[in-house]
Amino acid sequence: MGYSILKGPRYKLHYICFACRKNFKQPNPKDVAERKGELSLLLNGFYFVKPKKEIPVDIIQYLQYEYFDKKVICPECGANMIKVPMSFETPPKKNIKEWKILQSFYEAKGYVTNELPDNKKMLIEVLENSLEWHISMLQNADDHKSYLEKLNDAKIRLKHEIEAIRNELNHLKI
Ligand SMILES: [Zn+2]
Repeated sequence: MGYSILKGPRYKLHYICFACRKNFKQPNPKDVAERKGELSLLLNGFYFVKPKKEIPVDIIQYLQYEYFDKKVICPECGANMIKVPMSFETPPKKNIKEWKILQSFYEAKGYVTNELPDNKKMLIEVLENSLEWHISMLQNADDHKSYLEKLNDAKIRLKHEIEAIRNELNHLKI
């Protein structure tokens, strides 16, 4: 398994740090694995490869943690960074208002978006609508009796999402 000169490094993953208001690129897990000599293990464990080799569960757990679950730390301040889509446009560092709305949106919804509300009032409106939607989804969840087990998972997820949105709304309304 030699390093392929032709292929070069793979696309990098994008992260942002709320404390520094900056974005940082991190190497693709496959590139990291390649440097550590673990690429074939990683590919066998988590990607479509042929022929597939069986990987022991403890190795899978190690790979899961090492390449996907480990917290990614800001190289400048050491805070946890959050992963953003490659298409995400990071607000300029000096635009503190936009960063505040972005962080608030993230705390409530668990993801980031380029279509952010323009101001705090609009953000509260967006979150209140989202809260209402989640509550009605949760109330009507029992109508779909055929997927009982998945339904319970969905209910737990909705409850967590409702809690996160409510918490953030409380912060915003102080
Ligand atoms: Zn930072």
